[in-house]
Amino acid sequence: MVRLNFAHDTVDAHRKAAALADELAAERGRIVGVLVDLPGPKMRTGPVKGGEVTLEAGQRFVLGNGEVTGDASSVSTSVEDLASFVSAGDEVYLADGTIILRAKAVDGGVVTTEVVRGGVLRSRKGMHVPGAERHIEAFTEEDARSLHHAVDLGADLVGLSFVRDADDIRRARSALPTHGPRPLLVAKIETRSAVENLDAIADEADAVMVARGDLGIQMPLRELPLIQKDIIRTCNLNGVPVITATQMLESMTRAPLPTRAEVADVANAVLDGTDALMLSEETAVGDHPAASVTTMAEVAEEAETRSGHRLKPVKEELVGDRVAWAVAHAAVEAAEDLEVAAILCPTQSGSTVRRVAAFRPSVPIIGLSAQPPVLGAMALIWGVTPVSCEDLESDLGPDVLERAVAVARDQRVVGTGDLVVVVTGAAGHTDLMRIVEV
Ligand code: PEP
Repeated sequence: MVRLNFAHDTVDAHRKAAALADELAAERGRIVGVLVDLPGPKMRTGPVKGGEVTLEAGQRFVLGNGEVTGDASSVSTSVEDLASFVSAGDEVYLADGTIILRAKAVDGGVVTTEVVRGGVLRSRKGMHVPGAERHIEAFTEEDARSLHHAVDLGADLVGLSFVRDADDIRRARSALPTHGPRPLLVAKIETRSAVENLDAIADEADAVMVARGDLGIQMPLRELPLIQKDIIRTCNLNGVPVITATQMLESMTRAPLPTRAEVADVANAVLDGTDALMLSEETAVGDHPAASVTTMAEVAEEAETRSGHRLKPVKEELVGDRVAWAVAHAAVEAAEDLEVAAILCPTQSGSTVRRVAAFRPSVPIIGLSAQPPVLGAMALIWGVTPVSCEDLESDLGPDVLERAVAVARDQRVVGTGDLVVVVTGAAGHTDLMRIVEV
């Protein structure tokens, strides 16, 4: 997949990147999904004189409001009512937590602080006040505008930043267009509230991201590895695709080779059960973007050779459509028993593919759909190869099994004499399975 982060760059630049991704994928006969991240309510400090100032431990530093250029004694912030949720004694973290301030006094909308740990503050850096997210809605007006642009440029998935609970996702869902392609929603887990509300979020979101960058600021860093495992486990048990993100091959932004620790981190995320791994600055601004992707793919493929330990959903934990889960489970069992060539999943919403993949079968899963956002989103799911099947346009119909087999044969995904399991159902459901010799 390609991720376009709307927190940076212009919509026009993102539109061009999405079009280029489509063009290159089409040239190669591949489906490449597009994930657009909405910026969310990230708190930031304002501009500073000369682009950067140095803060020394022990000095006084004022967080104000209004669009004024800051200096080594004060800076404005993007938060109108910062003073309403900061009290004397609270800590404020700037620039990914490298600078720590302690509030001394709050007066007339201005927060006076003492610098606890100094450092270089550049213009418009991230600001974090522990607990503040409870006061700030995740889906902002700017996000609503960005969502519109994301749909317009053909996003298959939209990442929601700084969600706190399932309501934040429902609010974004209600802002999706009622007609035409609707991207799936990815909940980025990067706040304490989101960690606390993980079960409800996993129920509501179409996919989840372990957004380790901001999560590592909002939670004690030492807890991050265990939180990552808990999030992946919850998603695996609920059949929700999960992405592990940030600093995975960070050193490759400059160096041609990763560190041993980074290689272990990528492999461990795969062994934890992640569906997808994400690169950020390695490919966005790095010196070795292609090598970063190749390295990550090679390490992931190697780790996948030890796939036997992955967590699979068990019956008691499956919620919602129990028939659909039972049919998906039966399809995987049959596929394993018969050692079929592939499991074919004609799907309208992608949910059949998601359920089948949740059982982590050892045979390839082929997701067939006519809908571009469904195809793009399937690229994210563990073990799934999306295949475009325009025939499946309106509804799946009674001859869906034959059509799916014909498309898979035409595209040489399966060959004559192969045994395949076909599993499908009406939109959002899974209630039909057949074993077919091609
Ligand atoms: C993160 O914080 O880890 C993350 C993925 O968010 P972003 O890259 O959008 O800041």
